[in-house]
Amino acid sequence: MGEDRSGARGLATEAQYLKGVGPKLAMLLRKLGLETVGDVLEYFPRRYEDRRNLPPIMMLRVGEQCTVKGRLRNVRSQGTRGGKVIIGATVADETGEVDLIWFNQPWVGRELQKAEGAEVLAFGTVKEGRHRRLEMGSPEWEVLEDEDDTEDFARLHPVYPLTEGVPQWSVRKATASAVEYFASQAEEPLPAGMLQARRLKGVGWCLRQMHLPDSLNAQSEARKRLVFEEFLYLQLALQMRRMQVQQEVGISFPVSKVVGAGATVGGLFGAEEGSAGGTMWEQVAGMLPFELTGAQKRVIGEIWRDMERPYPMNRLVQGDVGSGKTAVAAAAMLAAVRCGFQTAMMAPTEILAEQHFFNLKRLFEPMGVSVALMVGKQGAKAKRAAMEAAASGGAQVCVGTHALIQEGVSFHKLGLAVIDEQHRFGVVQRMALRQKGVGNPDVLVMTATPIPRTMTMTLYGDLDLSVIDELPPGRKAIKTHWKRADQRAGVYESVKQLVRQGRQAYFVCPMINESEKMQTQAAEDLYYRLKEKIYPEFRIGLLHGQMKPVEKEEVMDKFRAGELDLLVSTVVIEVGVDVPNASVMVIEDANRFGLSQLHQLRGRVGRGEHQSFCILIANATTKESEQRLQIMVETTDGFRIAEEDLKIRGPGDIAGTRQSGAVEFKLANLVDDGPLLEQAREAALEVLEADPGLTRPEHALMLDRVKARRKDEALIVVS
Ligand code: ADP
Ligand code: MG
Repeated sequence: MGEDRSGARGLATEAQYLKGVGPKLAMLLRKLGLETVGDVLEYFPRRYEDRRNLPPIMMLRVGEQCTVKGRLRNVRSQGTRGGKVIIGATVADETGEVDLIWFNQPWVGRELQKAEGAEVLAFGTVKEGRHRRLEMGSPEWEVLEDEDDTEDFARLHPVYPLTEGVPQWSVRKATASAVEYFASQAEEPLPAGMLQARRLKGVGWCLRQMHLPDSLNAQSEARKRLVFEEFLYLQLALQMRRMQVQQEVGISFPVSKVVGAGATVGGLFGAEEGSAGGTMWEQVAGMLPFELTGAQKRVIGEIWRDMERPYPMNRLVQGDVGSGKTAVAAAAMLAAVRCGFQTAMMAPTEILAEQHFFNLKRLFEPMGVSVALMVGKQGAKAKRAAMEAAASGGAQVCVGTHALIQEGVSFHKLGLAVIDEQHRFGVVQRMALRQKGVGNPDVLVMTATPIPRTMTMTLYGDLDLSVIDELPPGRKAIKTHWKRADQRAGVYESVKQLVRQGRQAYFVCPMINESEKMQTQAAEDLYYRLKEKIYPEFRIGLLHGQMKPVEKEEVMDKFRAGELDLLVSTVVIEVGVDVPNASVMVIEDANRFGLSQLHQLRGRVGRGEHQSFCILIANATTKESEQRLQIMVETTDGFRIAEEDLKIRGPGDIAGTRQSGAVEFKLANLVDDGPLLEQAREAALEVLEADPGLTRPEHALMLDRVKARRKDEALIVVS
């Protein structure tokens, strides 16, 4: 008995057993991917059709959507010259009459004929017809059998998304029946205390109000609860995962006990006598060519504290472009090395991996720490050497791309894995790198794309969060200008002036479509145009994704060394490249980029002491693209840009290639439902604090639902 009433059981019932559904309708529903009662219940309307406006016919106005009630008269049909048929009828009440018209739907004529003389209800948009008579084209209509019908007809009707061959009425019928079924079969999954404390309505009422709302207020009240619930299950899953990790046995790095380079634990990597020593803070200060910002120090402190704890670290470092995440990662990595472990850093592109490799090598080698690079397109010999260095422990720091997580790559004693630009990697890759470690290594993920808080909570809810919310001192704000294509000559001239003063500039061409060939072509075209026509006196480099890694490296080296004045590139330079003397970023067809992408690109300049400029060349074709470009001109605040980007593009795109499952919701929307997400997170933490495993009977249904969300369960298992 209890089993039958369990929410999960009832919801798993096949839709065809719903009253009034049956096998035929069930087949239609299957076309929409609806198999079970639960699927049907969660198939929410796209909008509602408001048929509540029921004026006397005399009061009808052209352009108005309304319901009319009256006697059906004068059903007629008329052929047109093109061989089509027009069906007409008239509805009359005491105040006036209105014509109903259908083009070429002869079967409607037969139905109307049967209803002639009866009282009917019809809903449609009022238009002016011939002879200045009012008419409704293709209205919804039905015969009025008793007075209740008026209430059933002249109300809010759900409008569901459909697919070919599935009529609206079929979904309406199924959902209405499912709502009834649920009311009689299923239980409330959320504990009563939670509903009360958060003033949320019961689930049965909410499902009814979503599908058959009494009013828009009631519907929005219902939606609120269901969105909260949707967020709640995900937050429970993420928080349970987080707590689970804290139960695991990890490495306890004795970071605060390190007093010298020679005093490494276990002496595995016996550093040279006399090389940099002192506490970890002293060593980091000695390693870096600059003073850390307050935010960097705070975040490094948070990381080291995690590293000292006996369970695995799972921390996300979020910081805007240029906030100095590399130095933070270097401090974490140095600590791991000084405690006798290896460390690896994985980056999403070869250019970025190489960049990190060079930077880290420059920092680490004087400290007596060895660094190796491992990237996909490396020559076989170099690759083998890197793999051997990783396996033997010869390399204390390994930097690379996905190559690091390939089969056959192993580490001697990997204790800390750093993942840069995490939004480009899936949970699966994070896990794969983690598995190369000894036991449960610590994991640090860094993302440069500031993402809205709602996204952070959804995508990274199982990670602890550190934010670098301060830029290194002395940065001059980048000046951003938006120019139209016909102002290009002026832009080229300004760039010429700056280059003559010794600066360097980037020119970026857009992603034309997914084709790398097309992008390469665009970059080459621009390269030759600039080289031959515009700047024959300058040294110009070209960089695109189809070049070999060594070629890319060569070009980047030259640009870094100041041997090139201009660098023409596709978006491959999007992330991480760091050349302080480059102070101009020209972005062609800027309206083809997402806002966050533009922000990333802009972050390539403004890294040195010179005033930097970002010039967006674009003809805004729509109001929206104008707004987007305007935001870029107005602000350099990555978080604000991310919020705007989320509003414009939706969460799927922002998440990029990271498993998108976690940001797909049935009802919730990360743009508008931020406050509900906060509440759900809070509620999840509250519940888990009292009942970490959700083992109490009043939490049983909730636990079922958490488990039932397969994708989220994947999160629990995989990440
Ligand atoms: P991101 O957070 O975008 O990865 P980077 O780590 O590449 O930023 O740092 C951007 C630039 O700022 C680099 O040139 C780096 O050397 C410099 N930098 C980082 N931290 C500081 C600091 N505290 N003081 C001065 N310069 C810094
Ligand atoms: Mg970086």
